[in-house]
Amino acid sequence: MMSGESSVAKRLEGKVALITGGASGIGESTTRVFVEHGAKVLVADIQDELGQSLCKHLGSPETVSYTHCDVTSESDVQKAVDTAVSRYGKLDIMFNNAGIAGEGEPRLIASNLHDFKRVFDVNVLGGFLGAKHAARVMIPAKKGCILFTASIVSKISMGLSHAYTTSKHAVVGLTENLAVELGEYGIRVNCISPYAIVTPLFQKTSGVSKKEEVEEILSAAGVLKGAILEPSDVAQAALFLASDDAKYLNGVNLPVDGGYSLNNQTWKAAFS
Ligand code: NAD
Repeated sequence: MMSGESSVAKRLEGKVALITGGASGIGESTTRVFVEHGAKVLVADIQDELGQSLCKHLGSPETVSYTHCDVTSESDVQKAVDTAVSRYGKLDIMFNNAGIAGEGEPRLIASNLHDFKRVFDVNVLGGFLGAKHAARVMIPAKKGCILFTASIVSKISMGLSHAYTTSKHAVVGLTENLAVELGEYGIRVNCISPYAIVTPLFQKTSGVSKKEEVEEILSAAGVLKGAILEPSDVAQAALFLASDDAKYLNGVNLPVDGGYSLNNQTWKAAFS
């Protein structure tokens, strides 16, 4: 490939990104895509071995490296942001992607308070802390991009737990409130809402272990036929939102769901 072509193809050249939950699933795929597109990436996760081996596989520490960071700990998040800045000189993209499904109990009466709080700690407080510390370094720079992984359950009820569903609604609220506050400093804040994807998080929730079997079931249930939603599809949406191509997108909850959240034909069944 000629050098001119590669600079056009690399959409994050010169940018520095921090990705929480970057060791697995959507975060892992986004790390790969961001590195391919010329970004320097700091992967932050609690799965240290997985995160370290991913980074080793993807490039030299000058390009991609790992830091232990539990997103529910403010000092860990603060340290991760400071590490990105000291290692790579700045922070352009903060992807608050770490998340858990919790126990997944969908019945209100049977749900457990500790689980509810834990899901909120990781999915909401974790993202809040990520945004807070990213903004601390982005505000003086008067630019930056903050992303979250929300979920399709922020748009429709899929019968998942109240903890998970409300946590993802909260992520959208946080995205919108931050987009308004931080717009003044040239910082864009957006979130992505995927339909179901076979990652370790989803496999735990579905209880089905064979990846291909789950993918087939999910694809059959989807609106868009002939395609299977994969982590890389979310990574591509993150790439777009993080790149200068999305320079005027702020406060958006972007569905990556093949139209699933638009579809409700239950009324037809009532007539049959
Ligand atoms: P995953 O389990 O593969 O990845 C989640 C990562 O987050 C893991 O590496 C895990 O170690 C990390 N993590 C968990 N708790 C953490 C903590 N306290 N601090 C730091 N890291 C922590 O799952 P995934 O499906 O890739 O999930 C990524 C995000 O996508 C989550 O926010 C999830 O809610 C969201 N999401 C997933 C789906 C799906 O169907 N898989 C659909 C919509 C949204």
